[in-house]
Amino acid sequence: MISGGEPLLREDITDMLKIIRDLGLEVALNTNGILLGQQKQQLFSLCSTIVVSMDAADDSLYKKIRGCGALGRVIEGVKHVQSLLPSLEIQFRCTISRYNLFNFSEVINLAKTLGIAGVGFSPIDYDSNSFGRDSRFQSSVGRERLIPSSEEIERFNKLLDGELGEFLEKAYNEKVISWSLVRFRQLSTYLLAKFEGRNQGFSDEPCFFPHTATLVDYGGEVKHCFYSSSYARVESVSPEELVSSDRISCVRTEGKCRGCRGQVFT
Ligand code: SF4
Repeated sequence: MISGGEPLLREDITDMLKIIRDLGLEVALNTNGILLGQQKQQLFSLCSTIVVSMDAADDSLYKKIRGCGALGRVIEGVKHVQSLLPSLEIQFRCTISRYNLFNFSEVINLAKTLGIAGVGFSPIDYDSNSFGRDSRFQSSVGRERLIPSSEEIERFNKLLDGELGEFLEKAYNEKVISWSLVRFRQLSTYLLAKFEGRNQGFSDEPCFFPHTATLVDYGGEVKHCFYSSSYARVESVSPEELVSSDRISCVRTEGKCRGCRGQVFT
């Protein structure tokens, strides 16, 4: 998976993907979708999947969340990919926060309209220091903006018990979305804990990330997951380190799993 920042900002992105493909690896490209319309078929043909961030299906909410009114451009970009390479799998990735807790079902409908292969979800992460984020996002202001209140979460839970729950269950059974209702209930638990300032209680299950992935960040540091510390440089990491069975305990020892949204994905 190639993620960002925004990978399509790199002028050498096609060359990078070629190197990855020559190593025998598949490529899932995560993008905000804004520059998709400017790309050529050669880039798309190197990808197995394109994952487009899509947090809202109407212009004003999209702009509020993403800071730019680019929804139409992203949709045109998706259609551009579909026209050049109809067989390429495109997915949406929707990050759920206070802004779209009551609107994300519209993203599912948009995906259906556009013939998107599926919609995955992420709970908002506002309080980690990953992704080059500075401390302003970890403040109480960030929490108020991004985490729903306990009343809103209670209202959301009631919707999960009713029509919204039925809608999501149907979409899950039709393989349009990746989360079952259980995951949406875990999302509520996560958001409530964040609202109450607790960093625990989301799940007792271990996170799958370190068992299935290795992360190389923009500086060439190798990590067990997005939130753990670097344990090697990419030029010097050994094959033994990459497949170490000790990966999850390394991250746990650091204490990063407490309060991490990764536990919602288990
Ligand atoms: S739960 Fe732990 S292992 Fe999983 S992503 Fe978070 S910090 Fe990493």
